[in-house]
Amino acid sequence: MGASLTPDRLAELCRIAAETKPGTNERRVIETALALLDRIERLEADNYNLDSENYELYRRIERLEAKLARQRVALRRLQAAVERRNSQERIEALWYKLSDEKRLLDRIEALEAMLLHLYQDTVVPGTGYCNRCGMTGGHDEWCAMAAVEKLLGIEVKGDGEEEGGASDA
Ligand SMILES: [Zn+2]
Repeated sequence: MGASLTPDRLAELCRIAAETKPGTNERRVIETALALLDRIERLEADNYNLDSENYELYRRIERLEAKLARQRVALRRLQAAVERRNSQERIEALWYKLSDEKRLLDRIEALEAMLLHLYQDTVVPGTGYCNRCGMTGGHDEWCAMAAVEKLLGIEVKGDGEEEGGASDA
């Protein structure tokens, strides 16, 4: 660009302009040509600046994109690591929770079995006679077997007094 606008050619045009008489058509044509050339030169300079700015901008965008791609890779790795870790922790937490609940359930079952054993040793099957409080088909207020029946969901056939024995206080 600017091959026709070298300083030499501009200087030549200026010299020609200086030689022509002011106010003549020749002078006006040369002045107009010089003004136009000046304007074209400035536009070309602007264009070049824009191009180099665009180039710089493009390079910056490229660098940013490369950086972003690297960060995206790192982020993906991190995310994968976090997910792996999370799921592992979640599985461990679940495992602990489950084993805790299992332990509790086992313990509750053992206690219930023991209570049932105690109950069957205390309340005579069939007759419903309680060796603890001496009542049949029911219990005294203070008899623990009433609570045991409630806890284990044992239905006692009789006059239904076991309910009153347990809830009265
Ligand atoms: Zn009893």
